[in-house]
Amino acid sequence: MLLGAHVSVAGGLSKAPENGRKLTCDCMQIFSKNQMQWNAKPIDLEEAEKFRQNSNEFDISETVIHDSYLINLGSPYKGMQKQSREAFLDEMVRAKHLGVRYLIFHPGAHMGAGEQAGLKRVAESMNWVRKEFGSGDVQLILEITAGQGTLLGNSFEQLKKVIDQLEDQKNVGVCFDTCHAYAAGYDVKTKTGYARTFDLFDDVLGLDYLKAMHLNDSKGKQGSHLDRHEQIGKGFIGTEGFGNFMTDHRWEKIPMVLETPAGDKLYKQELKLLRSLIKKR
Ligand SMILES: [Zn+2]
Ligand SMILES: [Zn+2]
Repeated sequence: MLLGAHVSVAGGLSKAPENGRKLTCDCMQIFSKNQMQWNAKPIDLEEAEKFRQNSNEFDISETVIHDSYLINLGSPYKGMQKQSREAFLDEMVRAKHLGVRYLIFHPGAHMGAGEQAGLKRVAESMNWVRKEFGSGDVQLILEITAGQGTLLGNSFEQLKKVIDQLEDQKNVGVCFDTCHAYAAGYDVKTKTGYARTFDLFDDVLGLDYLKAMHLNDSKGKQGSHLDRHEQIGKGFIGTEGFGNFMTDHRWEKIPMVLETPAGDKLYKQELKLLRSLIKKR
């Protein structure tokens, strides 16, 4: 299994691989800029080169990027849409410079315009950024959400509707966040529920679209639509649920990262717990 965590880029992007290795990460997720701000200095190409060298040196086999929380590709408001698209395009360019192939993002929120209109706008935005970006090996990875408020993307069917409206259906994928999926209503805790969930994923989307996972336990119950991450084993999914993931050979090459609330303080311990679930079976 390729296990890791969301790693801080404090001290510079090129420091992240070492930070990740200290936490025993095989793979990691980063923000390539401050996730709460719209603008960022362009990536320094020397820093990007160092990042790639250090990823090799510290044996981080894959890094994924999570986009800024401000971006809403589904916004019905023209100004917001333009700002979001441009910021997202910048995220793609940053990913390219860093040699990162997966850019993970929440589809967006329809803000009252309705689900169908929102999903269509997300797809239109994705078509726009893809065209502006031109060629380059950056894939757009839609993260499943818990579905609170007007947030889009809380079911496999919704994600499929976005993908169906894309001009480029190759350079796109899905990130399965265990907490979001559970809160959205998918049972990943019991053996039968877990099996059914991924059968459904395969039926609706096709398992080939599954490119990354976020491993988070859930403070909310199944179907609660609460996006509250919990430490592994301390929430409703529990070690029983994560055991399902850790013993599933289909995910061996898929980057799986923690985004649990204690962060750096407990990542190492949580990764150890996850790895013990692999060995157990
Ligand atoms: Zn996310
Ligand atoms: Zn997530």
